[in-house]
Amino acid sequence: MKCPICGLNKYEESDYCENHQSAYLNLKERYDDWKKSMNISWREYLKKIIENENTGEWVREVAIQLLDEN
Ligand SMILES: [Zn+2]
Repeated sequence: MKCPICGLNKYEESDYCENHQSAYLNLKERYDDWKKSMNISWREYLKKIIENENTGEWVREVAIQLLDEN
């Protein structure tokens, strides 16, 4: 199976390749932090991540993909 974002082979049991999987884990961890200090939904959070200029390219690609799929 291929990573839905870049088409590389998936990493072990994950939904993404190794790079996008680590970006995804990063994204989820950061969301847990954000939730502690503000009331924000997953989708709102993803939008903010995408709009943030400091977001890394891999993280942004994962955020766009997650926002698209639901
Ligand atoms: Zn990928």
